[in-house]
Amino acid sequence: MEQRFSGLFHNPTILHSEQRAFIDLDYRTLYSEVMRKIGIYYAFWTREWDADFFPFIEKIKNLGFDQLEINGGTFAVMSPPARKRLGDEAKRCNITISYGIGLTADHDVSSLDEEVRRNGIQFMRSMIEAVGKSGGGMIGGTVHSAWPSTLPKDATDKRPYLDQSKKSMREMVRVAEDNNVILNVEVINRFEQYLLNTCDEALSYVKDINSPSCRILLDTFHMNIEEDSIGGAIRKAGRYLSALHLGETNRKPPGLGRMPWEEIRSALDAIGFDGPLVMEPFIAKGGQVGRDVAVWRDLIPNPDYDKLAHDAASFVRKVLC
Ligand code: MN
Repeated sequence: MEQRFSGLFHNPTILHSEQRAFIDLDYRTLYSEVMRKIGIYYAFWTREWDADFFPFIEKIKNLGFDQLEINGGTFAVMSPPARKRLGDEAKRCNITISYGIGLTADHDVSSLDEEVRRNGIQFMRSMIEAVGKSGGGMIGGTVHSAWPSTLPKDATDKRPYLDQSKKSMREMVRVAEDNNVILNVEVINRFEQYLLNTCDEALSYVKDINSPSCRILLDTFHMNIEEDSIGGAIRKAGRYLSALHLGETNRKPPGLGRMPWEEIRSALDAIGFDGPLVMEPFIAKGGQVGRDVAVWRDLIPNPDYDKLAHDAASFVRKVLC
């Protein structure tokens, strides 16, 4: 066990949260002041998923962020020199990189079609190894299935797909453990995904997988639709909560809507959360991004994207950190 997970302990930031994930402590007494990194997803600025992430690093640093979330799928197919250049730039700017992925249907690791499922595992393996070579970190999103996705026509029972997903995840976490990577299953609303719609479902999933490399990503936008209580869901997730995606109820940047940020902050404090807070705003129609996130209108007229991001980072630092 010690040998197998030793890779995780080379990264002090991961060591910290992993220790806390597996030792039952009263975090509030031990960590009265927790550091929470503030991140943003690059696709706020793009209409397509593929992008050159390099210029975003210095840009978001200057806007007040600590972390950039990029597309893990694009990262997996980048050349090793390009990945190294990106990593060096992140180091220079003191920016943490995290990776988001919604696996496509042909890489669906919950598929009943074994060929599709194998393709998905192979793709995830290449992504995990690429992230591992860059020092490790978090890959979050639909790492457990496909996105956007619903049950196949005429299917009514999701259990066989859930079983396939867990079978795949058990294989993927072994690669993740060896590569200093944490796979965060994201709890997503019913209109975009069907396997894990609530924190309870995700908790049952990660407890079943039982690996420090499989944890939970909650997202305020999805929680607003599915959870009885947003603060309650965060408290329930507890030490299994690895990262939190932020957005208003319509995915405007934090601070421009009616999300109960005070309630969220209390819950984060109660569980001693020290993971990253990554905002994931989507405000403009167009492109494949607009299609996939179902934005069919411009939510903010003539947006100044950089100013919106800067203001949202300031808001989050004041309200959630
Ligand atoms: Mn999200």
